[in-house]
Amino acid sequence: YVSNDPINDVEQEVTEWARDKKIEIEALKNQEQFRREFLANISHEFKTPLFAIQGYIEALQEDAMDDQDLARSFLHKASRNIDRLTLLVKDLDVISKLESGEAPINFEKFEITHLIRDVIEQMEHKAKSHKIDLIFKDKYDSSFWVNADRDKICQVLVNLIDNGIKYGTENGFVAIKIFELHDQILLEVTDNGLGIEEKHLPRLFERFFRTEQSRSRQIGGSGLGLAIVKHILEAHQQTITVRSTEGVGTTFAFTLEKVMPNIITV
Ligand code: ADP
Repeated sequence: YVSNDPINDVEQEVTEWARDKKIEIEALKNQEQFRREFLANISHEFKTPLFAIQGYIEALQEDAMDDQDLARSFLHKASRNIDRLTLLVKDLDVISKLESGEAPINFEKFEITHLIRDVIEQMEHKAKSHKIDLIFKDKYDSSFWVNADRDKICQVLVNLIDNGIKYGTENGFVAIKIFELHDQILLEVTDNGLGIEEKHLPRLFERFFRTEQSRSRQIGGSGLGLAIVKHILEAHQQTITVRSTEGVGTTFAFTLEKVMPNIITV
């Protein structure tokens, strides 16, 4: 190839190079901004419970100690805030392991209704204390085999069911449903709780995003649950969607790779 306008060629090359660099710099700037916001969010999330604990302890040091009932209630509240901090540290640890690749996805074939029953058993106590019914129909006596990381899908189910309980209404329910698609298994977690305003839906899976409603109701949570869920499913190359109507309820739906059961030949 012989160019008849070498100067123009070089100019064009330089322009393209500069454009690529500009895109690169923009991406770096965004990353930097993202990191800064993340740090600001973390310190904000830590500050609230820490200040509360400090407040209760100071009150106890002053004169709240003289009133036994008041002292007990302040200690209980301080302890609740310590639980919040613990949860926050735990969830941050999960997120950072997922992002750094320290928690790789270990695919294995397993039967999903077993896992769902285990998770329900594990969550039953919390559900009862919130007067929420966990529903998983017995019609699922057939088996549904998937190829996924069992522990991580367990975490996905726990986080979604936990939200259904936390943002549920008394005497409500959280139902888990399974649908068999062509080459995927679709799982749905539905509640008839508070629901989510439509304007919040696009930001729901962002780290630390919480609606004003859940913040003001003081419902314990790190704001990382759905970010973890999305991370895990993305690492499986699967998707999650949400449908919600305020005051009616919410459904999260996600897919997993369907596989044939392990056949043991004798
Ligand atoms: P959190 O620790 O606050 O529960 P999540 O990441 O799990 O954090 O959820 C983010 C926000 O999405 C919640 O604070 C709540 O406002 C909203 N949300 C999540 N699940 C539900 C649900 N099932 N019903 C209503 N709102 C929900």
